[in-house]
Amino acid sequence: MKIKSVEPFILHLPLTSDSISDSTHSITHWGVVGTIITTTDGLKGYGFTGTHSHLASDRLITVCIRDCYAELLIGEDASDHARLWTKLARHPALQWVGRAGITQLALAAVDVALWDLAAKRAGVPLWAHLGGARTDRLEAYNTDIGWLSFSLDALLAGSVKAVEEDGFTRLKIKVGHDDPNADVRRLEAVRKRLGADVRIAIDGNGKWDLPTCQRFCERARDLDIYWFEEPLWYDDVGSHATLARSTSMPIALGEQLYSVDAFRAFISAGAVHYVQPDVTRLGGVTEYIQVADLALAHRLPVVPHAGEMSQVHVQLSYWHPASTILEYIPWIKDHFEEPANVEGGVFRRPQQPGASTTILSKSFERYSKSLS
Ligand SMILES: [Mg+2]
Repeated sequence: MKIKSVEPFILHLPLTSDSISDSTHSITHWGVVGTIITTTDGLKGYGFTGTHSHLASDRLITVCIRDCYAELLIGEDASDHARLWTKLARHPALQWVGRAGITQLALAAVDVALWDLAAKRAGVPLWAHLGGARTDRLEAYNTDIGWLSFSLDALLAGSVKAVEEDGFTRLKIKVGHDDPNADVRRLEAVRKRLGADVRIAIDGNGKWDLPTCQRFCERARDLDIYWFEEPLWYDDVGSHATLARSTSMPIALGEQLYSVDAFRAFISAGAVHYVQPDVTRLGGVTEYIQVADLALAHRLPVVPHAGEMSQVHVQLSYWHPASTILEYIPWIKDHFEEPANVEGGVFRRPQQPGASTTILSKSFERYSKSLS
């Protein structure tokens, strides 16, 4: 099972609506930037990270895969993925310039491809390769109804449809207007329309400062918010810890954290209640497992961020014992051989061998971007 080739790719896949915005980002396409790793016996592993379809920076990731990682991988035994992770992540020259950002996103893609290969080699889905499913019912929460750019009417219509027609009992709604009272009014309207039993999480995408968050939490205290995600700047451990102590609203974060060390800092400070690792920003499945184990040791629930739109996290969430629920955003699922589908608010458990990362050839043909 020697590695024969490492071929990077860039896909820019359109969203299911024309565009969306949260408090800090506006996008029209999701970037699927990764690699196909082929072994000498012809098996192919697919891995990717998620981006905002910014071609120039996407190319930095593929250059890292092609020019830095490929030569460290060719000829190696693909089943040695733990050793290969260390070989890439701790390569002296690369960790000098890396450990976060481009090199880590590229490492994520490579590592996911190696795990996809390992599960395919075993002939089972990744959750089974890792040790079996902890549950037969992985609940989904719907993020795609709650973008900040949606009008209140669209937010209400989407929320009602998700709950009353599609069977979701959990939603996530973006917050982060310049005036937090605007967010409180939107949340009050949704809560009033949906009643007390629907679980509503919110996501600030790191826009507000500490006093703004504290004022907002005070005004929203009666809305039974399930968690407040990324209330503050992503790396600010101290302010998150202060906020966590000053409100009863649980804090969720992790989608912008690049390492198990970063998670340890937040967890040790009591700054997070819901842990949100992402295989596309950590060093792939390998480091995700380290973070999930860390959360388990602190008895904190894991709710992954879906940078890969839950294609891989559905596997990990069916398996890892700290997992609870999983994010659902349907933008790119139909470009995969086995889509991360939800029925009645529950993720379908994958059945095909691998990590659910194999992309349809017609999607490559239509949406590939030039690497240079
Ligand atoms: Mg988020």
